[in-house]
Amino acid sequence: MGRLPPRDGNDQLAWTASDLTAQVLSVLPGLVAYLDPERRYLYANPSYQRWMVAEPEDMIGRTVADVLGAERYAMVEEDMDKAFAGTESHFERYIPFDDHERYVSGSYTPDHASDGSVRGVIVMVVDITERHELELQLKESQSRFEGAFEHASIGMALVRPDGGFMQVNGVLGRMLGHTAAILVTKTFQEITHPDDLAADLQLLGELIAGERESYQMEKRYFHRDGHTVHTMLSVSLVRDVEGDPMYFVSQIQDISERKAAEAALFHERELAQVTLKSIGDAVITTDLELRITSLNPIAEAMTGWTHADALGKPMDDVFRIRDVDTGEAADNPLRAAIKGNVIVGLASDTALIHLNGFDSPIEDSAAPIHDNSGRVIGGVLVFHDVSETRALAMKMAHLASHDTLTGLPNRNVLHARMEQAIAAALPRHRRVAALFIDIDHFKQVNDVLGHKAGDRLLKAVAQLIRSEIGDDDMVSRLGGDEFVVMLPHVDNAAHAVGVAERLLERVNEAVSTESADLSVNFSIGISLCPDDATDAENLIHNADTAMYEAKQQGRNGYRMFSTNMRHRGAAHAAIEVALRKALVRNELSVQYQPKVDVRTGWIVGAEALLRWIVDGEEVYSPEEFIPIAEEAGLIVMIGEWVLRRACEQAEKWRAVYKRVPISVNVSAVQFQHTRFFETLTSVLDDTGLPPALLELELTERMVMSGHGHVPDLLQRIKKLGVKLSLDDFGTGYCSLSYLKHFPIDTLKIDRAFIRDIGADHQSTTITGAIVALAHSLDKSVVAEGVETTDQAQYLLAAGCPIMQGFLYGMPMPPAEFAELLAAADDSMDEYF
Ligand code: C2E
Ligand code: CA
Ligand code: CA
Repeated sequence: MGRLPPRDGNDQLAWTASDLTAQVLSVLPGLVAYLDPERRYLYANPSYQRWMVAEPEDMIGRTVADVLGAERYAMVEEDMDKAFAGTESHFERYIPFDDHERYVSGSYTPDHASDGSVRGVIVMVVDITERHELELQLKESQSRFEGAFEHASIGMALVRPDGGFMQVNGVLGRMLGHTAAILVTKTFQEITHPDDLAADLQLLGELIAGERESYQMEKRYFHRDGHTVHTMLSVSLVRDVEGDPMYFVSQIQDISERKAAEAALFHERELAQVTLKSIGDAVITTDLELRITSLNPIAEAMTGWTHADALGKPMDDVFRIRDVDTGEAADNPLRAAIKGNVIVGLASDTALIHLNGFDSPIEDSAAPIHDNSGRVIGGVLVFHDVSETRALAMKMAHLASHDTLTGLPNRNVLHARMEQAIAAALPRHRRVAALFIDIDHFKQVNDVLGHKAGDRLLKAVAQLIRSEIGDDDMVSRLGGDEFVVMLPHVDNAAHAVGVAERLLERVNEAVSTESADLSVNFSIGISLCPDDATDAENLIHNADTAMYEAKQQGRNGYRMFSTNMRHRGAAHAAIEVALRKALVRNELSVQYQPKVDVRTGWIVGAEALLRWIVDGEEVYSPEEFIPIAEEAGLIVMIGEWVLRRACEQAEKWRAVYKRVPISVNVSAVQFQHTRFFETLTSVLDDTGLPPALLELELTERMVMSGHGHVPDLLQRIKKLGVKLSLDDFGTGYCSLSYLKHFPIDTLKIDRAFIRDIGADHQSTTITGAIVALAHSLDKSVVAEGVETTDQAQYLLAAGCPIMQGFLYGMPMPPAEFAELLAAADDSMDEYF
């Protein structure tokens, strides 16, 4: 092989061009050879020879086929043919080298003679094994990235520094409603919600400036169809070797659903607040299209629509108003409120038209409802009755939300507050606890020491619980001896347990000392939200179940709720079974309590009260077993039985003694039963009792329920000559102005008001107001639960002489009642 000639000045001119070429070729790492038309090697550079492991004398002059062997020649023959045909050909392939393979890139270049014929072919081969392997690796990582990119479960994009999408995956395309091909013609700026753009650009700037490695933000994009897509965006930056920004890698997660849930919670919380603020007011909410989304019970009573029926109906169907002066249909203020995103204040010259046609003056105001990003998503309409009875209604609404004995909020308020607390706690990953507290052996206290002592104990317990809990916590009385404490912010069960333990301890020392022979204990059940339930109803229910378990475990203790606890329903089921047996064994009976006109002392009526007595002992009180009978569907049958019994009794007394109007309690389930009216007429027919001597005691809720058939049913009953009275008056949701539209004869003031006469100023005034109201509506009024002469005196002075209560007679068996009648003055008959 050629050696570089000595470099002295004399030889310099002796260099020829071919010497130089040979010299260059000899040191080239690449393989170079020259083939003559017969494909014989005319030249092969040293690299080529090394590769062939051949000495020049073994190669030069021999054919390629000869040197390579038939097998290897077959691999190159086609490319070589092309070159000898006059076209340069290129190839890349593995070729054997020693005992392994190398990857080469090469060419066959024809060497044309001046006449254009191919006089030879230059072979060039470069070993690119290393580069090729790098390329392979790159390709593989690229395809791995592509796979990850395309099949990621979240949206991904490579974004140019100017914001243009370079590459997007399918998820992102679907999220935004574009094909990948369209999306790469857009910039992220074009499809970003304008309110989020500035923050995004700011962070992007910090990323480019190197002030941060990556960033995350919640941002909104616009979907192709215009709706907003809530996302969580994470961005990092890829730089080139110089450190200049090449592209951003963006990961985009669709969080619309989570956002919607958050918004719903927010919405609910807002609603709960609106509703709470307007206890005593009717509240209707709508969506943007003015379709009803909710109706509170007062709105139900005032419009005559039930929440269920109204849902989704146009606002104008449900809330029909007209101008008081002109009588023309008035425009709904909610329309202006939503359209203008403003609160439309009180207007008081409108009248609301009830489903049943009658109308009453109202005052209404309307406001838009916003989602948590401030967009208008609906409206809320708050209105109330402005008849002269409004002030009274407000006071009664307060009483309806508070327990008159203890002054604690009642179940309705607890519910509303608890829903609110839950809505606030959930997104913050905090807990709400409910402690269901029941006084052990309360019934015995009542029985042995009397109702007065029982009431005193309840008041003391209410005060004690109130003083032991925090300002944000709430205690409410559910009725009887049951209290619920709500702890709106607890971190764990231990916190709630701490409160329970403190209460148990304190009740032992505090209340017990008040009366030496009275030892008071609690049983407490605890449940946590969201662990045990995520709504008020179930949270309270579970705490109740846990309390029941605590009682089973020997009382005076607490239990945490757990799902495997025996449902308190088990106790219900036991009562239900016993009740079915009691029916067969005739263990139910009816007792009668006199109603007296205290001016004359005459018995002017009797209320039939159901009793479950075995061997002279009350098994369960009606307040305990009637709700179960209602649930079990037994009330329809039992109610008919009581009605028949009472009518038979009254008819017997009428024949033997005097005309005694008989009052029978009707449960809602019974009243709504399709055959109620038929049952009523057949009982009257069968017993022969003059209908005027029968009075049905209904509740406000039953009458105001908005059930379409109720007014009609009331009218039909009225036509029979049967009297109607509203029981427990003042405790329900009262829409007083409607009272005059219903054919109700009598209002029966609830005994809670009577009990507090004298003791509680507000109850006293309200009792007076109810009496006045009854007179102004031309209804008679009865006070129930009269126990003291003070109460009787006040009621008489207030204009309510008809009374019922222990002061004038306990509920008693018919034989005993007959004795009363027999002893009564004969002139009593003239009363009727
Ligand atoms: P209610 O209709 O309010 O009945 C009056 C309740 O007050 C009766 O309780 C009666 O015993 C009690 N009471 C009477 N005078 C006084 C008093 O001076 N002081 C006090 N503290 N209480 C007095 P009872 O008999 O336990 O009935 C409870 C409830 O059970 C009734 O309340 C009624 O809602 C329901 N009920 C009773 N019998 C029937 C029935 O036959 N059918 C239906 N559907 N419900 C009934
Ligand atoms: Ca009653
Ligand atoms: Ca009552």
